[in-house]
Amino acid sequence: MLEELKKKVCEANLELVRRGIVIYTWGNVSGISEDRKYMVIKPSGVDYDGMSPEDMVVVDIETGERAEGKWKPSSDTDTHLELYRRYPDIKGIVHTHSIHAVAFAQAGISIPALGTTHADYFYGDVPCTRELTREEVEEAYERNTGKVIVETIDGLGYDPMAVPGIIVKNHGPFCWGKSPANAVYNAVVLETVAEMDLKTLLLNPNASIARYVLDKHYMRKHGPNAYYGQK
Ligand SMILES: [Zn+2]
Repeated sequence: MLEELKKKVCEANLELVRRGIVIYTWGNVSGISEDRKYMVIKPSGVDYDGMSPEDMVVVDIETGERAEGKWKPSSDTDTHLELYRRYPDIKGIVHTHSIHAVAFAQAGISIPALGTTHADYFYGDVPCTRELTREEVEEAYERNTGKVIVETIDGLGYDPMAVPGIIVKNHGPFCWGKSPANAVYNAVVLETVAEMDLKTLLLNPNASIARYVLDKHYMRKHGPNAYYGQK
């Protein structure tokens, strides 16, 4: 089942390696079926070398059980499931430990919108979640990681598609998008803007961007009257 989606998810996982934001098995990509009944995700702990679509694992969105595949799904499966269940526009999710985004996560600070590169893809700061409690970690770590992401987005009250990523405190980034490939794209952009931010803040800890510049850049790509690119 879902052969096309398995190909797309496998390809998106390999793209993470090609873009240099994942080493060893430190990352995972998933995608959701059109009917939103199944998620296809990378297997747990399987090397990217020689990974093929048949290695992908199909998981039932409602039950969280494996529906097809010879491997165990990624250990972050329950985090992906929480996001798909809550946000119907999300069609692909990526998790990495990319260095600069992790630096912000470990420092416990949001990745601030400081320039137009950020504004082209993320309509505002990329928030950092709160720390998980001991109970949350011991009870259901991966599911509660998903819940703390949802709590952060819903608490701040923004559209997750306008800021398609978040960093989990002391852990790292989760990004999403309109497809597995788009989620990977957003994860690569997030890592790049995190690196730009870190260097900017070293030069000037008080750096900022004017709201009207942020608005202009985001809207020319994503607004109702977007005009960036070719018609
Ligand atoms: Zn992780």
